Amino acid sequence: MPAAVAGPEIERLIQLLARLPGLGPRSARRAALHLIKKREALMAPLGAALAIAMEKIEVCKTCGNIDTQNPCTVCTDDRRDASIIVAVADVADLWALERAHAVNSRYHVLGGTLSPLDGIGPQDISIDALVSRAHGGEVKEVILALNATVDGQTTAHYITDLLHDAGVKVTRLAHGVPVGGELDYLDEGTLTAAIKQRTLF
Ligand code: ZN
Repeated sequence: MPAAVAGPEIERLIQLLARLPGLGPRSARRAALHLIKKREALMAPLGAALAIAMEKIEVCKTCGNIDTQNPCTVCTDDRRDASIIVAVADVADLWALERAHAVNSRYHVLGGTLSPLDGIGPQDISIDALVSRAHGGEVKEVILALNATVDGQTTAHYITDLLHDAGVKVTRLAHGVPVGGELDYLDEGTLTAAIKQRTLF
């Protein structure tokens, strides 16, 4: 093990930064050094923002989104179409759809997908709450915006079965050619799905 080049406080900062997704030990050192150099301009406001976030962030009791208000900003926004719920596995997926301005509806964050291999069953994610929201009367469509993985699709099928008597339309995302994608580079599964789900031109 190499000798420490800085005091324990700085080493601790580096270790914590290294736990962030996308940052290894090397980039954590670079990030720590950057913070230290920008102590007033970046480190102080970041520390304050972290403290406020620690104190104020809650999980929305309606949809499972994270926000500093409960119910969250999305659930309390009257301009959104409350008849459509987009079910996503994670808050990151909600943020991605919002970034794309893909849909102006409500959401439901499941908090994961079913995964028998990892021991994640229906009770471990927020499926019951989604089903009861779908039965609420106001909802006309549930869009299952789940990953195109085995776990994502297993979860989609499971939820579809539970919603068959809810009187709502259950839809899922199309599988196929990505925008800007070249057919020659696509895998067989994606190409087959794209042909099967072709639409009228
Ligand atoms: Zn919410």
